Amino acid sequence: MTTSSVRVRIAPSPTGEPHVGTAYIALFNYLFAKKMGGEFILRIEDTDATRSTPEFEQKVLDSLKWTGLSWAEGPDIGGPYGPYRQSERKETYRPFVDKLVEDGHAFRCFCTPERLELMREGQRARGAPPKYDGLCLHLKAEEVTSRLSAGEPSVVRMKIPTEGSCDFNDGVYGDVSIPWDSVDMQVLLKADGMPTYHMANVVDDHLMKITHVARGEEWLASVPKHILLYRYLGLEPPVFMHLSLMRNADKSKLSKRKNPTSISYYSALGYLPEALMNFLGLFFIQIAEGEELLTMDELAERFDPGNLSKAGAIFDIQKLDWLNGRWLREKLTPDEFIARTFAWASENGRLTEGLKLAQSRIAKLGELPQLTGFMLASEVGLTPASFAGLKTSPAETLQILDTVQVDLEKILEWNVTTIEEELRAISERMGKKLRVVTPPLFVAVSGSTRSLPLFDSMALLGRSVMRQRLKVAAAVVASMVGAAG
Ligand code: GLU
Repeated sequence: MTTSSVRVRIAPSPTGEPHVGTAYIALFNYLFAKKMGGEFILRIEDTDATRSTPEFEQKVLDSLKWTGLSWAEGPDIGGPYGPYRQSERKETYRPFVDKLVEDGHAFRCFCTPERLELMREGQRARGAPPKYDGLCLHLKAEEVTSRLSAGEPSVVRMKIPTEGSCDFNDGVYGDVSIPWDSVDMQVLLKADGMPTYHMANVVDDHLMKITHVARGEEWLASVPKHILLYRYLGLEPPVFMHLSLMRNADKSKLSKRKNPTSISYYSALGYLPEALMNFLGLFFIQIAEGEELLTMDELAERFDPGNLSKAGAIFDIQKLDWLNGRWLREKLTPDEFIARTFAWASENGRLTEGLKLAQSRIAKLGELPQLTGFMLASEVGLTPASFAGLKTSPAETLQILDTVQVDLEKILEWNVTTIEEELRAISERMGKKLRVVTPPLFVAVSGSTRSLPLFDSMALLGRSVMRQRLKVAAAVVASMVGAAG
């Protein structure tokens, strides 16, 4: 293969706030393409229609653009192998699924969700791994035809060898062997005619001429299914590279409960994209102490995909802070610093919308920093004293903060209306008046009981910053409950 034919992709599913893990995998692919003189493309994997939303897709695009990465093909710019959004490719997958069924590599399955649940219950009770038991594997062709023509709902599942193992080479893990009996008869086509992730991913990587698949290690266990699909379809699989996940300092998987994980959180707090990419890029290169500050081009120069660690990349916020500080102080000219500051303050209309909200509440402009500062601050300096003036007891305040923390995650589209609706619903569920639930939130959001309208402020701050403020507030109030108890 000539190096110019290298094509890699990032294939995010727009089912939540874009994660720093996506930026980490995207950066790897981008640097790989740059190093090999290949192309980096973006594909949106939205086959899960119940969890994918246009809001999240827009955020994926915005967040990836913010990181400074650019792609040669994608849903926003098109390209020779489009469309680049899987929900628009439904008809593309169909012939591949039909061929698998015709060639006897896949089969129709009519098992109802109720039957599958009973089957799983039985497996759980026996301590057996959850796996399709093969009931529909040997249905006669006539029976399948008549059940299909009677309109009975069905899915298509892939057949899996009963013996031996799938042996393959991974660019990071080396030789890997996964026994076939640990692999499930994966659903390829859902009852609604949409392919599953596995089917769409393999077909698209083939049609989009992807040569190297670099993604998170959580997909390593899916490789046998993918390799088998390539084999069934008579196609050449790409080279696989499974990158170790990012971890918290305690080695646990990076999760939003411990650390903020949304890219938008880091942009809202004023991390420079260059610094975040510099921080993530250091996981892929070997450098000596003192050489840490690197631009994207410098990262690409030193990038060595042949020398990757399985150890897990520790998301050390202090190191990120240190790098960000150095970028701000050493890499920007004063003019650039000022321009970047204004751009950051205006992000998502924070500055202008915040000022509009403040207008009706001030006597002189000098009050603005106090009234609107919380919109830009990285944290609002909460202490037990911040909550002392509330009518609710610390225990009740904590209960409110904890409930709101969990329930706000249910909001699909984050805006003033949906936030207000959800807070009203939460109050009702808690059997409390809205005016009892909101004061603790005012304090959590702004550090003060006198601030801008709550729902608007929450909408402007964004979900990821709100999540962190509520978490900090709950920790402060929990310490008050502990002290009182
Ligand atoms: N849609 C998958 C994800 O969001 C992509 C996995 C892959 O790169 O194959 O993680």
